[in-house]
Amino acid sequence: MGGAELLSGADVAIVGCGPVGALLANLLGQAGLSVDIHDREVGIHALPRAVHFDGEVMRIFQAAGLAEAIAAVTRTSSRGMHFIDAMGRTLMVRRGIKGPGPHSWAGNWYFHQPTLERVLRDGLDRSPNVRLHLGHEVVSVDDLDARYVVGCDGARSLVRRAIGSRAHDLDLHQPWLVVDLLCDPDSPRVQSLPDYTIQLCDPSRPMTIVNVGGKRRRWEIMLMPGDDPARLVEPDLFWPMMAKWLGPQDAVVERAAVYTFHSVIHEGWRKGRLLLAGDACHQTPPFLGQGMCAGMRDAANLAWKLAAIIGGEAPDPLLDTYESERRPHVTAFIELAVRLGAVIQATDPAAVAERDKRFAEGPQTFDFPQPQLGPGCRLDAPPPVGTIFPQPRLADGRLMDDAIGQRFAIVGDSQRLAYLRPDATQLPDVGGEWLAQHGLRAALLRPDRYIYAVA
Ligand SMILES: Cc1cc2nc3c(=O)[nH]c(=O)nc-3n(C[C@H](O)[C@H](O)[C@H](O)COP(=O)(O)OP(=O)(O)OC[C@H]3O[C@@H](n4cnc5c(N)ncnc54)[C@H](O)[C@@H]3O)c2cc1C
Repeated sequence: MGGAELLSGADVAIVGCGPVGALLANLLGQAGLSVDIHDREVGIHALPRAVHFDGEVMRIFQAAGLAEAIAAVTRTSSRGMHFIDAMGRTLMVRRGIKGPGPHSWAGNWYFHQPTLERVLRDGLDRSPNVRLHLGHEVVSVDDLDARYVVGCDGARSLVRRAIGSRAHDLDLHQPWLVVDLLCDPDSPRVQSLPDYTIQLCDPSRPMTIVNVGGKRRRWEIMLMPGDDPARLVEPDLFWPMMAKWLGPQDAVVERAAVYTFHSVIHEGWRKGRLLLAGDACHQTPPFLGQGMCAGMRDAANLAWKLAAIIGGEAPDPLLDTYESERRPHVTAFIELAVRLGAVIQATDPAAVAERDKRFAEGPQTFDFPQPQLGPGCRLDAPPPVGTIFPQPRLADGRLMDDAIGQRFAIVGDSQRLAYLRPDATQLPDVGGEWLAQHGLRAALLRPDRYIYAVA
């Protein structure tokens, strides 16, 4: 596209239309902001990457008006993630959630990333105020005439370089082969594969196995010393690694790629009008299935703040709370992923023996972290302040967030409020059970449903 078209004076320019940029453009577009979003590629990135997101992320898709479209191309499972050693013993289980979880959505969703990105891109058609510029590489942020510029431009971010962010490396860098297989549903071996995610902690060849949905299954296979990455998917090398599970008569390789998993958190997500979100400011090894999820949470945090500032309801320094809130939150996920990586990737016999001793008493269970946002746009108080409020379903069948809309809300007994805005909507009985459980009278929720304050 021509450079002149860029000089549009949009409210927000987004560099990168991967999942994070596309979601942010949807959220801003629905809020009525004018957005220019650029991607250097025309097509959607086709190589295998994310396969899992959680219930909170589904709630963000709901806020973008895309939950139904996304539910139609994903599968749910309540069976969690099982860490299994070479002998078949379960070491740990990341628990699943049965039925609708605290967000009124299933807790774990499995998907094919290019299909999800297609739904997000199609969602942009709903907003004439969002202009998608494909096949356009941004070479300098100075070319972008917009009030704010958000770099959702991935791990090698140009916007990050323009900001001059500092990298904090958590020191996990390990190459893995990532393969999507299309499996024959009539094959007895395919039918006998487990429905839950497996982290195979086998020192001779660590692997991750995920049921992505439909015919698709994901194998992530750690590279071992002596492996030739270029040759690993050749049939005579690939199928012997898979022999315990499947053979060439059961499945075909759809796509394969070697990735080096990184664990890096950058410091400096904002400089003036420039901001970062997603892989541009943090990268995690995928052992928790949370890299993209963190980027989606960035988008949700940024979207309401940008809308409030551009709508004249909040001052620009509100954006300074974005990194202070989000960085500690994403750090908790990445640190856990790195610790899990040490369990899965252990190959040294002494380390493996030490690890197995730790789990000799039986499997340990854990859940996704529920960290508090760092200091920012919230009261300086312990959790539940700074954590996300659950989403109950109202007696009339509506989900709480749909009933409230994108604005602040007070949950509690309205009779006790001294002042209520004239345009405030009152809803019957929202969250009373949660308040009673926490011994609280009221909670003030932000538009992204994180708790600002409690009383
Ligand atoms: C093997 C693997 C498994 C994973 N599993 C999971 C999982 O299960 N769950 C999960 O949540 N996450 C997972 N992830 C992580 C997830 O895939 C990423 O976090 C996510 O894709 C990041 O999205 P993004 O939009 O920030 O960046 P990207 O997806 O990298 O998108 C960046 C976009 O910016 C564009 N771009 C870059 N520079 C420019 C420029 N100068 N001008 C214009 N456009 C530009 C690129 O073309 C690209 O489209 C996994 C990753 C891998 C590799």
